[in-house]
Amino acid sequence: MVKEPVRILVVGGGYVGMYTALRLQRKLKPELKRGTAEIVVITPDPYMTYQPFLPEAAAGSISPRHVVVPLRRVLDKCRIVVGEVRSLDHGKRTATFTTLATEEEGAGTVDLTYDEIVLAPGSIARTLPVPGLAEYAIGFKTVEEAIGLRN
Ligand SMILES: Cc1cc2nc3c(=O)[nH]c(=O)nc-3n(C[C@H](O)[C@H](O)[C@H](O)COP(=O)(O)OP(=O)(O)OC[C@H]3O[C@@H](n4cnc5c(N)ncnc54)[C@H](O)[C@@H]3O)c2cc1C
Repeated sequence: MVKEPVRILVVGGGYVGMYTALRLQRKLKPELKRGTAEIVVITPDPYMTYQPFLPEAAAGSISPRHVVVPLRRVLDKCRIVVGEVRSLDHGKRTATFTTLATEEEGAGTVDLTYDEIVLAPGSIARTLPVPGLAEYAIGFKTVEEAIGLRN
């Protein structure tokens, strides 16, 4: 009987998720090569945004592409799934996620089982109760927002 690889699921490919997967990829090199372990990263974008560089991108001192790290290039021994985890059933070690394809096709959600999980979905910035802020201000967490501000 072929034994299934031990699956480590990383939710979120931002700073924490990318560096965790990178470290695991290095540490588990023999296991990944033998196929006894697998690292899966589920994240909405195929790149990690290095947020500390956003002010430079907004100021126009660096190009937007210098703020992002392509996950598939850096995590070349991991499986990158561009999608969003919607729910977890940790008792059953199962994550439920959607991808652009499942959403466009109306195919619903996809389940993925895991042995170990790393939760790194970041945070949601609080919008202060300043009148007009929510309606008119531009956020400052993504490359798109930094470039919007620059423009
Ligand atoms: C403008 C700015 C400047 C900063 N400057 C500094 C600095 O100089 N020094 C410093 O130490 N820190 C700085 N920070 C903070 C630092 O960037 C954050 O602490 C760091 O990015 C947090 O890492 P994280 O992995 O927790 O979250 P993030 O890097 O935000 O990553 C979270 C990832 O999870 C994904 N995700 C969210 N929900 C889901 C889901 N349901 N399923 C799958 N994926 C999901 C997100 O899309 C994202 O890719 C700065 C932040 C900003 C905004």
